[in-house]
Amino acid sequence: MDQRLCVLNAGSSSLKFAVYGVVDGQPRHTQSGEVDRIGGEGRLRMTTADGKVMHDRIVTAKDHAAALAMLAALPDGPMERHGLIGFGHRVVHGGPNLNAPALVDAATLARIEALEPLAPLHNPPAVAVLKALMALLPALPHVACFDTAFHRGHPAVADRFAIPDTLYREGVRRYGFHGLSYEYIAGALAERTPEIALGRVVVAHLGSGASMCALAGGRSVDSSMGFTALDGLPMGTRSGSIDAGVVLWLQRQKGWDVGQVEQFLYADCGLKGLSGVSNDMRTLLASEAPLAKLAIEYFVYHVARTAGSMAAAMGGIDGMVFTAGIGERSPEIRARVLHRLHWLGFSIDEAANLAGGPLLTRSESALPAYAIPTDEEIVIARHTLARI
Ligand code: ADP
Repeated sequence: MDQRLCVLNAGSSSLKFAVYGVVDGQPRHTQSGEVDRIGGEGRLRMTTADGKVMHDRIVTAKDHAAALAMLAALPDGPMERHGLIGFGHRVVHGGPNLNAPALVDAATLARIEALEPLAPLHNPPAVAVLKALMALLPALPHVACFDTAFHRGHPAVADRFAIPDTLYREGVRRYGFHGLSYEYIAGALAERTPEIALGRVVVAHLGSGASMCALAGGRSVDSSMGFTALDGLPMGTRSGSIDAGVVLWLQRQKGWDVGQVEQFLYADCGLKGLSGVSNDMRTLLASEAPLAKLAIEYFVYHVARTAGSMAAAMGGIDGMVFTAGIGERSPEIRARVLHRLHWLGFSIDEAANLAGGPLLTRSESALPAYAIPTDEEIVIARHTLARI
């Protein structure tokens, strides 16, 4: 019997999935899709790995459990039971202790649920999907893979804020996120250029959520994201690092409550807030508006500045990788970042950069930079297969 496994990635308003067959003990991608705009009128799409559309229709799923029920009802869908051996789940926050992929039983589910206060916007949809699916298909195993896990080996100076130790012990730490993406890049780099992968590499995951990771010998030693996915680089709609005094000022001078501040920092800042035009980098790159140009420059400046600080954290740098939507597909942003980092030793190969790399730098460049497409789902699929 052909074996299959399904990877689920529950976002705040979407439920993405990918299906893998098992070939020679390794997951091989066969289909993927999503239900988007959960809570309103959205779309259910499913395509084969080579792009053939299997389903594409307008749906209204009131919550994640309803979206899951729609996927389960598809005759040739991701939950079709024939050959199905288990599920892998992306869970954003694993807290201080869930530091490796975990087979989900009632106790693990309770631990993930208990972390909801640490990630109020990110963990609840994953918990909702886990609960609904465990009720729907109780006999099949579930493996939770955490975005924080890859960063759990950070040294204390990168893991802490300068706040009392009691708060650290209550969980107020610099966790770091996008760990599944960085894990994929560390592995891809080790296959492509093992000598660079053994060294000190700065990885820029530049999507609507954006962060950077300092990789030393393939392990994360620092991340630009901290306690939440708000920290670090400016993002599509998130502020990135901001003086905590601004939050106090908004509360005191404007009388904003927690909900207003949260909405502001997560949804009204970043590229969208600064430009007043869009949260989408493509739209900004096509815009003549002065504030759109400033937002792009702010983004580039902070990517370059963070690369410099990560090089300092590692005592040097041996290479850099760009990944995720902007990092994989925008030659202009990559070029502007690499020009700013010329002083570190990057000499861009403009033609290679326009062609999408993977190598973006000239042969005489002191340091190599690469564009490598990330694949968080295959990392989850591999962990799942290894644990069921
Ligand atoms: P998410 O974090 O939602 O997974 P993605 O990794 O898909 O996000 O990245 C989305 C971002 O990538 C958007 O800002 C989008 O404008 C940008 N992007 C996608 N393609 C291009 C491109 N060709 N040029 C510039 N930016 C792009």
